[in-house]
Amino acid sequence: MEREERFIQALIRRRYEVSLFDTGAQAAAYLDGAIDGKTVGFGDSETMLSMGLYDRLAAHNQVFDPMHRPEGETFRETARKTLLTDVFLTSLNAMSETGELVNIDGTGNRVAGSLFGHEKVYFVVSLNKLCPTLDEAIYRARNVAAPQNSARHGFSNPCALKGDRCYDCSAKDRICNALIVHYRKMRGIQMEVVLIREELGL
Ligand code: SF4
Repeated sequence: MEREERFIQALIRRRYEVSLFDTGAQAAAYLDGAIDGKTVGFGDSETMLSMGLYDRLAAHNQVFDPMHRPEGETFRETARKTLLTDVFLTSLNAMSETGELVNIDGTGNRVAGSLFGHEKVYFVVSLNKLCPTLDEAIYRARNVAAPQNSARHGFSNPCALKGDRCYDCSAKDRICNALIVHYRKMRGIQMEVVLIREELGL
């Protein structure tokens, strides 16, 4: 069985819904059709930003996104609102071919929103984040995604300055304060993994 198909079957066994698209534009069109008249929360994500998802969904949903917060509203105020919505969307830092999903978070809004409280959670993620094993997925999240995210935010963390790996730092702007492994779909909530073949995100 091909790697991609093996991964999808592993996700289905772990009770996730799965959809697959060649491009981010196709995935955005799908989500735009599937989510209508809802309150929607976003976990900050380069992938979703590059897909223009906020503008599309905000045209016919009430969307809360810390990266598009209203003037005068703090990150914390907007991020709290994302936790009480019908639908929550975020990306992932890495996935294993055996079906585990891995995310690292510094503030916690992204992983908190992915665990509880919504009707449905969507993980919108590019297949370039797929790793052979859970150990390798955790390695990717810590040593590839987190350093790139550190640099994107303009933090002076050692990973961002050296650009090669995680240094398990104690910097005030450390972005790796929790690492979540989703072993299976959470109980009492719908969860869909929206896979994209196009390379997107960090
Ligand atoms: S723990 Fe520190 S050095 Fe390691 S990836 Fe996170 S911010 Fe960078």
